[in-house]
Amino acid sequence: MVNRRHIVVLGAGESGTGAAILAREKGFDVFVSDCGTITEPYRALLDQNHISWEDGQHTASLILNADEVIKSPGIPLTAPLVVQLLAQGTPVISEIEFAARYTDAKMICITGSNGKTTTTSLIFDILRRAGLNVGLAGNIGHSLALQVAHEHHDYYVIELSSFQLDNMYDFRANIAILLNITPDHLDRYNYEFQNYIDAKFRITQNQTPDDAFIYWSEDPVIDREIRKMSLGATLYPFGQTGNAAYVRGNDLVVEAHEPLCMPLDQLSLRGKHNRLNSMAASIAAQVLRISNSVIRESLMQFEGVEHRLQYVATVRGVRFINDSKATNVNSCWYALESMTTPTVLILGGKDKGNDYSEIDQLVRAKCHTLVFMGLHNEKLREHFAARDGQSATFTGCDGRPLRIIDTDNLHDALLGAYHAAHDGDTVLLSPCCASFDLFRSYEDRGTQFMNAVRQL
Ligand code: ADP
Repeated sequence: MVNRRHIVVLGAGESGTGAAILAREKGFDVFVSDCGTITEPYRALLDQNHISWEDGQHTASLILNADEVIKSPGIPLTAPLVVQLLAQGTPVISEIEFAARYTDAKMICITGSNGKTTTTSLIFDILRRAGLNVGLAGNIGHSLALQVAHEHHDYYVIELSSFQLDNMYDFRANIAILLNITPDHLDRYNYEFQNYIDAKFRITQNQTPDDAFIYWSEDPVIDREIRKMSLGATLYPFGQTGNAAYVRGNDLVVEAHEPLCMPLDQLSLRGKHNRLNSMAASIAAQVLRISNSVIRESLMQFEGVEHRLQYVATVRGVRFINDSKATNVNSCWYALESMTTPTVLILGGKDKGNDYSEIDQLVRAKCHTLVFMGLHNEKLREHFAARDGQSATFTGCDGRPLRIIDTDNLHDALLGAYHAAHDGDTVLLSPCCASFDLFRSYEDRGTQFMNAVRQL
């Protein structure tokens, strides 16, 4: 164990506060510094634990004397203070790296560009159903360090972002899952995709043949990288070119241990992307020797995670689905792909340089009406709308010109969608955009949508 007495924690959100509390419990002298405002619950926790802190600034003299620094994932490696710490040789680690030193629990870690939260939650559900003593941690919003300090778990299911992986060195995942890699967060990686890829692959570091590496074998980036490297873990590829889990006819097959075969239409999570998430989760469960009956039960009953293709209600024959977390075009593609009825799609918000042509084909095949909901719908109009502004340049799923309803608020968008929908249709909120023009967050957007649907 490293013998360092003075620990500085940079950033006092969920992970930083948890790390500070664990460090204090382990007898370190701890100082927490956050250049923003520390919110009330975290201030109170730090005070209760007699941990000194500052906010609204970083006092260099109180930070540069640290023996080790725990950095919150939101702080970039290029922040001047972090650069200075690294230059003077001070180790800078993540909360997960620190917490893992104080637990012998088995670590099941999930990363990828999309699908992390869903897969993490599904694995947690399976392990709980199997009666294991399991904690849920990481990017999903629960501090690992805080749980290590105050609870005892035999297993942790941990969602890892690339930012958390950046500062992990000795950590070893007993089971590592890499779902997919598409360009994301490049502003934090010097606009080099390879830097982001390398961060994702850190999930495999220190793994031995006793450990499992579960990955989507059809992902071109993962496939290419794997050919370049020699990995220590036992490999469990999934997808049509994998052998640990794949689709055969209308069945999902999992063969990481005793073969499991179940009809795809029994999976509670809909859509092709969720099949992949279900495969990854089932392999992890089989590696842990959880019985196929428990895995099957969870795959059939798991209710999904809020704001991701979440069923809200059926009102006069119209189904409403909340996919507010679809903040990019790719996520909306997967949502549309999973639609089985004529669809009214609500989209729009803060555009992040979107190319809507990615969904053209699915919009044609699945939708008869598009509802724009945003303060700046120009780009949507430009892409979809004809000159009259009320119909599209191409036809929808009913063979008629796609209808366009242009709105700048949730109320009008929802009523427009509801009136356009017929008995048996689906109204899908899958915005392709961030929410910050009209809402506080994607959660706020989804919650307001669900509340409004329930009042129809
Ligand atoms: P993350 O935690 O990585 O952001 P989520 O589980 O929250 O992922 O899902 C976010 C969105 O990404 C979902 O709304 C869904 O449309 C899409 N998605 C989920 N799983 C996958 C996957 N395996 N591949 C591609 N897209 C996915």
